[in-house]
Amino acid sequence: MASLQPLAALNARIVACELCPRLRAHCTAIAREKRRAYREWEYWAKPVPSFGDEKARVMALGLAPGAHGSNRTGRPFTGDGSGDFLYPVLYAAGFASQPAATRRDDGMRLTGLWITSVGRCAPPGNKPTPEELRNCSRWLDQEMRLLKRLRVVVCLGRIAFDGLLAHEARTRRLPSRTGIVFAHGAEYKLPSGLMAIASYHPSLQNTNTGKLTRAMLLRIFQRARRMAEL
Ligand code: SF4
Repeated sequence: MASLQPLAALNARIVACELCPRLRAHCTAIAREKRRAYREWEYWAKPVPSFGDEKARVMALGLAPGAHGSNRTGRPFTGDGSGDFLYPVLYAAGFASQPAATRRDDGMRLTGLWITSVGRCAPPGNKPTPEELRNCSRWLDQEMRLLKRLRVVVCLGRIAFDGLLAHEARTRRLPSRTGIVFAHGAEYKLPSGLMAIASYHPSLQNTNTGKLTRAMLLRIFQRARRMAEL
């Protein structure tokens, strides 16, 4: 049998991870109880692997799977309101092959983009603990090493932004984060050479209230494209 490419092999290890008992129990309980609209679904209920183009120059870094979104479908931002907002923007910006993301076998392909998150298991109340985020940071560290062409990271929300800076600090490439603060649209060239762009997260809380509009998020990904020279 052919061996897996490194990123596919890493994804396989992520899917099998059991480091956070609270989160594993929560994901399993959600899958057992289900939401009424999805009672015919067999929920994924495992850590959600990353998705995209292994030659990506741009990364979209999110927070964690949604309970009835990617915890159900098994692909980042797929099957919930956040994804319904994000993927049409990725399509308009030229990263996604189609605007609708409904299930992991819907034929979606990404070009130039890799989607991942700082937490891989759906957390209660969308809030992973600091310890759970530390546990999961090992996967981001390994992924970053394998994405050889990566130039730009779009951080979707403050926790993702902090996760990227923590990664840069762990790898000793960021001695201090003084002056690097989260604000929608803020851009930073990090000492490693990586470019970071901060964005509000496309959660329903932000998109339903107009805090994050489609035009705002499209500008972020168009800017990421230009910065990555795509
Ligand atoms: S959150 Fe991350 S570290 Fe924790 S169990 Fe899930 S995949 Fe493993």
